[in-house]
Amino acid sequence: MTSETQPPRNDWLQSYWMPFTPNKAFKASPRIYESAEGFYYKTSDGRKILDSFSGLWCCNLGHRHPKISEAIKAQVDELDYSNAFNFGHPKVFELANVIAGQFPGDLDHVFFVNSGSEAADTALKIAIAYQRLRGEGTRTRLIGRVNGYHGVGFGGISVGGMVNNRKFFGSLLPGVDHLSFPYDSQRQSFTRGEPDADVEPYMQQLEEIIALHDASTIAAVIVEPFAGSGGVFIPPKNYLKRLREVTKKHGILLIVDEVISGFGRMAAPNAATHYGVEPDIVTVAKAINNGSVPMGAAIVRKQIYDVFMEEMPAGVEFFHGYTYSGHPLAAAASLAAQEVFRTEGVYENTQALAPYFEEGVHSLKDEPNVIDIRNVGLAAGVTVAAKDGAPGARGGEVFLKTYEEGVAVRANGDHLAVAPILTMGRAEIDMTIEALRKGLRAAA
Ligand code: PMP
Repeated sequence: MTSETQPPRNDWLQSYWMPFTPNKAFKASPRIYESAEGFYYKTSDGRKILDSFSGLWCCNLGHRHPKISEAIKAQVDELDYSNAFNFGHPKVFELANVIAGQFPGDLDHVFFVNSGSEAADTALKIAIAYQRLRGEGTRTRLIGRVNGYHGVGFGGISVGGMVNNRKFFGSLLPGVDHLSFPYDSQRQSFTRGEPDADVEPYMQQLEEIIALHDASTIAAVIVEPFAGSGGVFIPPKNYLKRLREVTKKHGILLIVDEVISGFGRMAAPNAATHYGVEPDIVTVAKAINNGSVPMGAAIVRKQIYDVFMEEMPAGVEFFHGYTYSGHPLAAAASLAAQEVFRTEGVYENTQALAPYFEEGVHSLKDEPNVIDIRNVGLAAGVTVAAKDGAPGARGGEVFLKTYEEGVAVRANGDHLAVAPILTMGRAEIDMTIEALRKGLRAAA
């Protein structure tokens, strides 16, 4: 578009193609956030909106935490960018140590990227290359899960299992299987925390997939600790632990996608710690720096890193990376955010608040159209009955009505997802639940 054809101001919504958004509906009735502070957004029409989705599962410490803002400002005045290939800057090394230090066992090496999608694709590439470098080059197959979400790269959508994110995009990666979704809505609806269900049928299915293709062809299994974008569904007790045992037995890597669960969401620093499970690779993003500057990472076990260092011929040990990997602003923001997580009692607050939040969300059980509720830590999913022939429509309506009540949550189809900021208190939880209650009633 040339300057002569610059649209008039009243067409200012014209050019932006919005991600994961019904563009036409949005542009007919836009919601614009102009500023934010703490627990609140401020809209262009002057309203204050309580952010009960932590941005998009990322602003776990609230908006514009002063320590994070200061760190970014100081960094931009010192080093705005550093070539990530063959050069480094001090903060990215420091940050890698800080991040690695939070994960169990020998998850010691951190490969920085710019998003959760990039983290997933990076982890899958590491897994396949690792198998090849250690002399198991036939191990190229991948196993994901139905309703799983690992971002929008071709790797992520291939192992992911959300139908709409896959079906428009061709044949995707070859050699991918999907485990069943470990949630039985007949038996597990309205469960609190991890359902008390038998995980062995899921492990049996995994064994069958492995037997079908032979373990010698399978590189990795990738799962989310709980399905976030899929609607907040929590696998039964011991699911991840058993998955670790089965994958280990067959020499298959376990990749755990902690893009949502990393940094406090489950009332623990991360799911690996929460479950006492040591994955081979963990992916993180989002709250790594409180959502302030795009950043993600794949964290790998020492033995994987060592194989790259030892087996790759001299020179570049991994042909992969991004112009903005370990960006100085993202790294500075993350160092500050991690210090806040460590020193401001964030995990303790989350732990203390989680039971109150659980009571609150389950108090919505008898509201109109509610057919299921689940929760873990400070995350919850409330499912409403789909309208005939219009899946997702009712969820969208409840989302909008709740927003009209001054609270932002998220609708993933007919699943309303709630993810309060981890530093909120009971008052904000009450506001969230009451707005949802009104939203559910108004949409009925
Ligand atoms: N993995 C998981 C588990 C996620 O929840 C998300 C984002 N919601 C992603 C990957 C992709 O992250 P991004 O949008 O930063 O690419």
